[in-house]
This record gives sequence, structure tokens and C-alpha cells, in this order.
Amino acid sequence: MAVDTLANGIPGSQSQSATPIVVDSAEADSAEIMALAREAQRIWGAMSLPTRARRLSRLAANIAASIDPIADTIHEENGKPRAEAVAHEAVTAIQFARHTCHVASAVLSAQAVPLESHPSRSAELVRQPFGVVLAISPWNLPFFIPLSQVLPALLAGNAVVLKPSELTPDSARLIEKLLGECGLPEGLFQVAYGDGSLGQRLIEAQPDKVLFTGSVATGRKVMAACARLPIPVSLELGGVDAMIVRADADLEFTASAAAWGATFNAGQACASVERLLVHRSIHDALVVRIADKMNRIDRSRELGPAVDDKQLHVWQEHMLNARNAGATQAAGGTFLPGRKLEPTLLTGSQVAETEAWRSETFGPVLAVLPFDDDDEAISMHNATEYGLTASIFTADLDAAKAMAAKLRAGVVCVNDVAATCYGSPEIPWGGVGLSGFGRSHGDEGLLDATWTKVIEVPKFAGPNAKRPWWYPYGPDLEATMSKLGRALAVENPVRRAVKVAKAGVSIVPLLTRNPRL
Ligand code: NDP
Repeated sequence: MAVDTLANGIPGSQSQSATPIVVDSAEADSAEIMALAREAQRIWGAMSLPTRARRLSRLAANIAASIDPIADTIHEENGKPRAEAVAHEAVTAIQFARHTCHVASAVLSAQAVPLESHPSRSAELVRQPFGVVLAISPWNLPFFIPLSQVLPALLAGNAVVLKPSELTPDSARLIEKLLGECGLPEGLFQVAYGDGSLGQRLIEAQPDKVLFTGSVATGRKVMAACARLPIPVSLELGGVDAMIVRADADLEFTASAAAWGATFNAGQACASVERLLVHRSIHDALVVRIADKMNRIDRSRELGPAVDDKQLHVWQEHMLNARNAGATQAAGGTFLPGRKLEPTLLTGSQVAETEAWRSETFGPVLAVLPFDDDDEAISMHNATEYGLTASIFTADLDAAKAMAAKLRAGVVCVNDVAATCYGSPEIPWGGVGLSGFGRSHGDEGLLDATWTKVIEVPKFAGPNAKRPWWYPYGPDLEATMSKLGRALAVENPVRRAVKVAKAGVSIVPLLTRNPRL
């Protein structure tokens, strides 16, 4: 195994200065933004679901016609390779837009609920838009993440105010332009450009729901601000996502998946693979292959930079910490000009003591530890407060499914990097624990942009009968209801029906009594 030590030191920032902050509505009056959004939502919310879906269905084609400018903008703005901008953002957005517009009417239309408890009545669940949704988004997928927050909320009948990261305003401008071409009422979708303090002011201006994607630290602040009002909030936070490799895995395939999964977007993805748990019997062979593949990643064309000096500093701290802990560097470890870090593989038992293992590096660093059996892999995986995604590599799909059932993660993917699921618009996305709650994408993403109203009505108009549990109260009511309660607890449906019918006989006198009230 070609193993270097972490001896090459951690240089200071060799970067240019951080991407300049472009703030053109930091002074914007957040109350005015909300008022405009509310007015537009009244028009939009009154339109039928198919009408809204038809307007927004132009979005997929609009994005397809703009793949080049989208790729240029993302590449310029956060430095990721153009190929990633096209594959992970533009193409994913097209598929997401087309699918979500297509299913919105079915997912969001009213649903009948059969009422075994009150057979003479019927109920309907109606999905209502919140009103104004505030979406706060990060810089790492500056086009697709905000778009995947905004589109379901609009389809559901909300107005949306987007607060993109101050580091990536131009990607948000593209979304503004592309949605503008769908013919939405003025003010229905607004982008508020500015920094975190603008995000706080927008929350204080009382939107009706907040969708936040970003760090745990900011997520806590956002939730605290929402709690004061209170406003419902969905949080999509980070993760220390693990790839679990069983002894029977295809080594070549798994090594490619690990090298890519840990380093695409320079590791700056919530679902990038940060921890590799590998069966001890194949540990050394797999490490050699991954190291080899990491060494062959093209540093200029295939490896992006840290988005800014703040992110670079986290990478530096984690590398220094790994060196001090005595971890072995099986690949990479060198900082390159332009805020880049070589794809880095950390091995050895000391890895368990490193920040790279315990907390999110959000960089091109993969920390590896061996396990001896499935149970140990599961408990190693679950020994973190995060729970966004996990992946399992194995030839035994039944064993993988059994393992998946025990992993604490919002998305578990077998024989693929879990980030791939982010590109499947049918799959709800989100985590547990420190990784947040609420779901974006899929049917659940659409439902997350709504609240549920119940409409319960009699199946026929009249004659009306007063309810037996209304006034007057007396011992006959208590005795009858207790009898009914015991009948309802019977498991067997036939015996239950007989007992309920018998209890029903004693209800008749209650219905025909001469009520005082
Ligand atoms: P932040 O959480 O700082 O930023 C996310 C968004 O929140 C940005 O738009 C930011 O604005 C805004 N914001 C910052 N402070 C506040 C506030 N007090 N109130 C309201 N909004 C605020 O994430 P970072 O940009 O620092 O990303 C770093 C970390 O975030 C990563 O290391 C990773 O852990 C996590 N992350 C997770 C992602 C996921 O998909 N789950 C995606 C991206 C990041 P501004 O940028 O203008 O300051």
C-alpha cells in the first residue's frame, strides 16, 4: 500500500480572496417583500392546481434551453467543474421540474377518507398552501437546491421569497429569470439578495413557513427565530454520511463509487461520503484501489475549490486534527493553490479519534475504519447524531435490506452513492437527528409546502339527530359509552360488528330521550 504520512504540513490559505459579496437588496424592506408576496399569492392560490401546474410546466424546457449559461454561472460562482454543474444541477433540475409539475395535481388534490367510526358521514383532506414560504438556501448546489425548494411550494399555491447564499446570487438570478418566463403574477416569486442578517429579517417579517437548507448552527438560529412567532420550519442540515462495504462487494466498482462519492463538488455536498466502513477482510485491498483512483482525479478539471476561505479553514482544521491524532494518509492531503485540497484518504485506527470521522468536513476527505460483522457496522454507523444518508455495497441484496432497516438515516442506497438519490425526483429527501426534519422532493416535498384541512360532512342532508354524547350527561350515557368502547376494542371484525350493534341498541334510548339541552 502506498502510504504517505501527514508530513507535508498544512499551509495557510493560498487562495484568492473569498467570492465578493453581491448585496443588492440587503436594505430591502422585508415587510414590503412579504406584502407584495401576499397580494400575489391571493391570485395564485385562487387558480386551480392544473392551471398552476400548466404554467410552471414550462420551466423544464426553459432550463433545458439555458444549460450553457447555467453551467457557466455555477462554475464561475462557486468553482465547481462545469461537468458537475451540468450533470448535478441543470440536468437534475430539468428532471425534477418535469416530474414535479406532472405529479403535483394528483399529489395535492383532495383525498376522501372513509369513516368507519361515523359511517353516515364522509371526510376529505384538502391540502392548503401556507401563504408565503421563505426558502433559505446554501451555496453548494446554488441552482438546484433553491429550485427544489421553490417549485413545489409554488405548485402548492404559495408565494415564495428566496434568500440565496450571499456567495451565489447569480445562480439565483437565473432561477428568477427562468421562473419569470413562466408567466407568474408579479411578486409571486421574489429573490431577496443579501447575507444571513437579511435571512433573519425576513423571518421576522412573518412568512407562513420556512424551508431552510444549510448548516446545523444556522439551522438552530433559524428554528429559534421561527419558534418565537411561531412559524413552521423544515430543516435540511448536514451529515457525516457513511458508505458500508461488506466482504462480498465488487471491489473495483465500490472503489470508484467511494472515490467519486467523497470528492465530487470537492466534498461540499450534504450527502457526500465522509466515512467509509469496510469489512476487515477487504480493508487493505479496497484502500489501495480507492487511493489509486483518488490520485488519478484530474486536479484542474475534476476537482473544485473550497467555496471560500471559511470553508477552506474547516478543511485545514480537520487535516491538522487528523495529523495530530496520528491518522495515516493513504492518498492526497496536500493543499493546492486556488483553495483546493487533494482528494484525501485517512486510514488507521486513530481515524476514530479524528474530527474528519466525527463531524462534517464538507471537503474531499474520506475517513476509513474496518468492521468485523454487520452488527458492528450498524452500530458504528449509528454512533453519530447525524442521520442524512448511507450506502451499502454488497452482492447480497437481502443482507443489504436487512442492514438498511437498522440504519438511522433518511435515505439508504444499495450499490450506489446515496447522493444519486438526490437526483431522483420521486424520492423524498431529508434526515433525522442533527440532519434535520421535513422532506423536500417527491410527493412528501409537495405535501411539506401545505397544511392539511379536514372537511367532514354528512353523506345526506337531514334528518338531523342529536348526538348521544351531547347533554344531558347521566349514568345511562356513561354505561352505554363504556359498553361501546369495549365493543370497539374487539379485534375480530365480525365479533366487533355484533358487539357494536348490541351496544347500539342501548344508544337508541339516549337518542330519543327528552333532552334538557
Ligand atoms: P449556512 O447555514 O451558514 O448558510 C445557509 C443559508 O442560511 C445561506 O443562505 C445563509 O446566508 C443563510 N443564513 C446565514 N445565517 C442566517 C441567519 N442567522 N438567519 C437566516 N439565514 C441565515 O451554511 P454555510 O453557507 O456556512 O454552509 C456551511 C455548512 O452548511 C456546511 O459545512 C454544511 O455543514 C452545511 N450545508 C448543508 C447543506 C445541505 O444540503 N444539507 C448544503 C450546504 C451547506 P449567507 O450564505 O448569505 O450567509
